[in-house]
Amino acid sequence: MSKGKLFVISGASGVGKSTVLKRVMEERKDLTFSVSATTRLPRPGEVDGISYYFITRAEFEDRIARGEFLEYDEHHALLYGTLNSQILEKQEHSHVILDIEPNGAFNVRAKRPDATLIFIMPPSREELERRLRSRGDTSEEQITIRMARADWEMEQSAKYDHVVINDQVESCAEEILKIIADKA
Ligand code: 5GP
Repeated sequence: MSKGKLFVISGASGVGKSTVLKRVMEERKDLTFSVSATTRLPRPGEVDGISYYFITRAEFEDRIARGEFLEYDEHHALLYGTLNSQILEKQEHSHVILDIEPNGAFNVRAKRPDATLIFIMPPSREELERRLRSRGDTSEEQITIRMARADWEMEQSAKYDHVVINDQVESCAEEILKIIADKA
């Protein structure tokens, strides 16, 4: 039995998850980020093996067939998945935090009922839309798609162990740190 605990974080695109996660991980050096595999192309600044493992669909499907994923999901015609190896190796020496969407989160819970599921909510739907627009790199069509997805994700939040509102990064990170401190 490994010593590390599992924490799953979800939240709609634009909610500020990565900024909050960065703060949390600065405070808790005993947390390691689970690097997912994806068939999406890297965005500027993303590094293979750190942000994601960027792989082809053929390789992803091969790895599914070999049973290498704890969970995976397809959305926007892209595959995303958590590798068993990421969790097992990292849990040997630390707690592990996953940034995955709700389908993946519930699949993790089914296999690892000890996992703690945390959902990050925007202060309001309007504020989420405003944040998405302020990124400036998202088309109207993309905003509609992302907001529809966000609505579905926010509905799923009722099934999470904890829901935290990201009004201010600092207080949101503090709340998550308290949840983590309770478990690990
Ligand atoms: P992005 O393409 O913006 O990095 O991520 C899109 C969505 O995929 C986010 O909601 C993110 O949480 C989710 N995601 C990232 N990695 C995984 C994974 O390994 N499994 C699942 N199910 N979702 C993931």
